[in-house]
Amino acid sequence: MRFRLESAHPYPFMRCYCSICRKTAGSGGYGINLAGDYGTLKVTGKKNISVYRALLMDEETGRRTRSSGRRHFCKRCGSALWLWDPSWPDLVHPHASAIDTALPVPPEHTHIMLASKASWVEVQAQRKDRKFEGYPDESIADWHRRLGLVTAVTPRARRKRRGGATS
Ligand SMILES: [Zn+2]
Repeated sequence: MRFRLESAHPYPFMRCYCSICRKTAGSGGYGINLAGDYGTLKVTGKKNISVYRALLMDEETGRRTRSSGRRHFCKRCGSALWLWDPSWPDLVHPHASAIDTALPVPPEHTHIMLASKASWVEVQAQRKDRKFEGYPDESIADWHRRLGLVTAVTPRARRKRRGGATS
C-alpha cells in the first residue's frame, strides 16, 4: 500500500517512549510521531490496512478501556503507518519511519512519556532537548512555531514536502 499527505510541521522531533509506540513502532525504544493534515491523506491499497486500538489500563482503578487512537498498520508487512484519533479529527500522525520523503533534521528533540520507558533504553538527549514524564506541554505545531520552522504550504513546496510510503 502507499499513502501520502501534506504537513506544515514535518520535523521528526518528538520521541514517544510509551509502551504502545515503542512496541508497535520503535525497536529503538521510542516511536517518532509526525503531524499532518488529515484532509490531504491519500491512500492506495486500503485493503491491506488494519487498525489497532490499544487496551489502556488505569493504574489506580485497574479499569481497561480502548484507546481512542486508531493505529493503522499494513497487514501484509506489519509496518506501523499512522495514528488517527477522532478527538483531533483534522490531524493525522504518521510515523516518521513510514515516510520515504527526506525529512528535515530537527535542531532539538522532545522526549515524552518517559515514565513508560523500557528500563534498557538510554535517552539520547542533546543539550536543548525537552523531557516529559507524560504528555508534553507543547504541541507538534507549537514546537515548529517556537523554533520558526513552520513552512507555508505553497503549491511548489507542497510537492516537496509530501511524504509517502510503499510496502
Ligand atoms: Zn506513544
